[in-house]
Order: sequence, then C-alpha cells, then structure tokens
Amino acid sequence: MKVLITGAAGFIGSHLVDRMLNDGHEVIAMDNLVTGTIANIAQHQSNTRFQFIFHNVSNHIHVVGHLDWVIHFASPASPIDYLDLPIETLKVNSLGTHNTLGLALAKGAKYFLASTSEVYGDPEQHPQKESYWGNVNPVGPRGVYDESKRFAEAITMAYNKKHDLDTRIIRIFNCYGPRLRANDGRVVSNFIDQALRNKPLTIYGTGEQTRSFQYVSDLVEGIVRLLGVKHHEPVNLGNPQERTVLELAELIKELTGTRSEIEFKPLPTDDPRRRLPDITKAKTLLDWTPGVEIRDGLKQTIAWYKEQLAVAK
Ligand code: UDP
Repeated sequence: MKVLITGAAGFIGSHLVDRMLNDGHEVIAMDNLVTGTIANIAQHQSNTRFQFIFHNVSNHIHVVGHLDWVIHFASPASPIDYLDLPIETLKVNSLGTHNTLGLALAKGAKYFLASTSEVYGDPEQHPQKESYWGNVNPVGPRGVYDESKRFAEAITMAYNKKHDLDTRIIRIFNCYGPRLRANDGRVVSNFIDQALRNKPLTIYGTGEQTRSFQYVSDLVEGIVRLLGVKHHEPVNLGNPQERTVLELAELIKELTGTRSEIEFKPLPTDDPRRRLPDITKAKTLLDWTPGVEIRDGLKQTIAWYKEQLAVAK
C-alpha cells in the first residue's frame, strides 16, 4: 500500500512510519516540523519506499501519484504546545482535516483520523465509552484542541456520509514511549526528564487526578488493526489501567533511582480529573488489548531519555 502520514515526524506519527515501512508499505511522510523533529524519521532517509515532504497541511496539499490511505496525525498534542500554538492547532484540525479529506477523496484513498480522548473534556462519565458526548469548555485553554478535534471528527463523518469516503476515527488516550519530546510538558516526559536530572518532580494539583497510560507500540498495533476493519464510528485506543499522577511520580522515582523530591504546583485550568477508556469496542472489533506493562514501557522510555541526555552532553 502507499500511505500518506501527516505529522509523520511527531511522536506517534514517526512510530507509525516505522511500522508501515516495516510491514512493506510505501510511506509519504508529511510534516512542517512545528512540534515534530526530523531526527524521528531520519533513519529512513535512504529507504526507497520512504519520502519526506515538508508541508503544513493547513494549506492546500499536492501529492503526485496514487494513494491507498491518507492518515492524518498532524497536530500539536501536548497542553503546553497547543497553548503556545492555539491558532495553528485550530487550523490543522479544521483546515488540515478538510484538506486531507479532500485529498483522500481526490485520490480514491481511504482516510484515517487521529482524534483524542480530549473530545470527552473533563468527563462526567467514567470510564469513557465512545457513545459519551463529553464535557468540554469551548472557551477554556484546552478548547482549541478539544473543539477542533471534535470538528475533525464531525467533518470526517460528514465525508463518510456525504461522499461515501471510507473513513476511520480513533480516540487516543495518553500515550508514552521513546521520542516523546523531553520538553513537551506532558507528565511522563516531564517526570522522566526531571528524575534523570535529579530535579523536583512537578505534580500539578494534589496528584490525585488520574490518567491511563498506553505504550506507543500498543497504540500502533491498534491503529494497524483498524486499517483492516471497515468501521466508521470512533474507536477508543488506550490502556484501561487507571492510576493517579502521584502514583506515576512514585513509579518513575523508583525506576530511575533518582534523588528528586516531589514538588506540588498549581493545577492548570480545566485539567481533567479522571480519564479512563472503555475499550470494549476495540477488544471486540479488533481483538486488541494493550499488552505492555507500565513498568516495562517506562523502562524502555527511560532508556531512550538516557541516550538522548548522553548525546546532548
Ligand atoms: N501533570 C503534572 N506534572 C507535570 C505535567 C503534568 O502533574 O509536570 C499532570 C497534569 O496536570 C495532568 C496529568 O499530569 O493532570 C497529565 O498531563 P499531560 O500534560 O501529560 O496530559 P493530559 O492528559 O492532561 O492531556
């Protein structure tokens, strides 16, 4: 297959590029490197089945030749990134989704949208099923991401209904692994980076808020399985093991053997209190469950951060 992956130089996008090339496909990797980095895909430079196009998908997209899939992963995705890039975030998930859908239609390709658990906002139902409509503050700081991803889902469904485009939508819950940028401000990257530098681990609020963390290879497996199943409604992909931010901090302290203390900082506005996917649909539809234990996933991730620190020295 020939696939276009947008956001291909980002954390998840680049792991998907690895997997698609490994599975024998041809990949056009598109990115404007606003939050991604070329180092994430540089290993494929000499692969004849790989091509990189530097482009912002919020502008018209031109690609030569046929495509089997358009896979849209481009977007700032960490709270500090989308706070810093609010307009870019709104544009890539609205105009960028429109452009990529139009491209898929023109090429007779199938379409895959990376959406997010953020469409549930600060959820009032627990765990979150795909049928839950969410609790989102449109004008809060997270609104630029949450609302534009909600729009992205809506326009993807509209192209499916109106143009009979063969579409997929996934809602990705917190994901971690190698290539999660050390300075992207997310909890796993912050804690590991802080621990390895023996700096205080910054817990926002009391640390009693929960998340569920999936390792990136589990997510990529779910994505690949959904490519092969015709299902247009959104599918949650996440790890159904819920833990508090405080528990995560303790675990990272233990696994790194750091001397770091814990420091409590104010909770950001509209920070969701609990987040846990109901993955019944993914289990039934894709025969998928995340297999990587958090300890193993964190060990892999910590090893990668150590390498990066060594290279930087
Ligand atoms: N968080 C924290 N310390 C940090 C970074 C994040 O306590 O240094 C908290 C954050 O307030 C949130 C959770 O960890 O409750 C997950 O944050 P992240 O930015 O990773 O993603 P989110 O799930 O909020 O989109």
